[in-house]
Amino acid sequence: MLKPGDTVGILGGGQLARMMALAAAPLGLKCHIFAPEGDNPAFDVSAACTIAGYEDEAALKAFSASVAVVTYEFENVPATTADILSAHVPVLPAPRALAITQDRFTEKSFIRELGLIVPDFIAVSSLEELDAALMTIGRPSVLKTRRLGYDGKGQAMIRPDVSASEAWDAIGHAPAILEAFVPFEREVSVVAARSLDGEFVAYDVCENRHKHHILDKTLLPASISAKTETSAKEAAKKIGDALGYVGVFAVEFFVAGSGDQEVLLVNEIAPRVHNSGHWTLGGAETSQFEQHIRAVSGWPLGSVKRLGQIDMENLIGDDIARWPDLLAESGLFIELYGKREARAGRKMGHITRVIR
Ligand code: AMP
Repeated sequence: MLKPGDTVGILGGGQLARMMALAAAPLGLKCHIFAPEGDNPAFDVSAACTIAGYEDEAALKAFSASVAVVTYEFENVPATTADILSAHVPVLPAPRALAITQDRFTEKSFIRELGLIVPDFIAVSSLEELDAALMTIGRPSVLKTRRLGYDGKGQAMIRPDVSASEAWDAIGHAPAILEAFVPFEREVSVVAARSLDGEFVAYDVCENRHKHHILDKTLLPASISAKTETSAKEAAKKIGDALGYVGVFAVEFFVAGSGDQEVLLVNEIAPRVHNSGHWTLGGAETSQFEQHIRAVSGWPLGSVKRLGQIDMENLIGDDIARWPDLLAESGLFIELYGKREARAGRKMGHITRVIR
């Protein structure tokens, strides 16, 4: 268990690490960021920073000697990096969560074995296998690379007019899964936390709207039945318990059908704080960032009580130009990540309106 004054090590220096470091400070904890490149939003707000590659063994050893625990802000931490670190210092969530969630096939198989529903899927590693899988799954379907896909990258939709070879070329011939297309009504997620001694808490279910495959808005309460809300939280608990997870994680779902016919299908697990939990900064009694720091420090979890009706909006690319007007809005929770360049599709900040 960490004590105030101790240092939390964080792999990755983006906005998620920045908001974790900002949440650690009032708890009396310092953060040491380890990231491969120099221009990082988390560096502005952290006690120590190391710029080195994730394969740099000497730098990883020095980093592990300077911190009481290591956590991360993204799921693509190389397995060898996690192994080198965990020989010297606790790595939380444990690297097993990374191993499972880094590969869509392993992840979906794991979720299905827990008795939860996922869209039908088949692993494919050649055009011939894709042809065969299309005979079973049919069209429309979605071809997704097994590894390193996010925000719709590494994906190809196979509509009736798209040939298998076009889709196979589009994802660069990488090992993949072919997944059934889900005609969903809405996309929702559960942001949850599990402590070192197995306590589990879940924030209310969020409804997520995407623009160009990037999260645009998160709204609460989600427009789903009370039964579906409970099932989503139970699914997250099942996943957290099965992973022996410590920290904050998110489970993304598709909701198909409506009313009594509502069905929840798990899309993916994010083993980290998540964009759909940003509303908790200002919108809940404990933010997901504080919650994660508490969990990996071996501390008791905080209250997940929601403080009102929530409307969280991401500021993407040029949206950031609205900052003077946003600052003038009373009661708005505003978080700007301090990135200098507003490239298209880049997450620059977010705002949350809480209607009490
Ligand atoms: P993912 O990277 O798997 O989260 O997918 C990104 C987005 O693509 C999702 O948020 C959905 O909007 C869409 N998508 C992914 N898989 C499916 C599917 N099987 N059926 C329908 N839409 C999907």
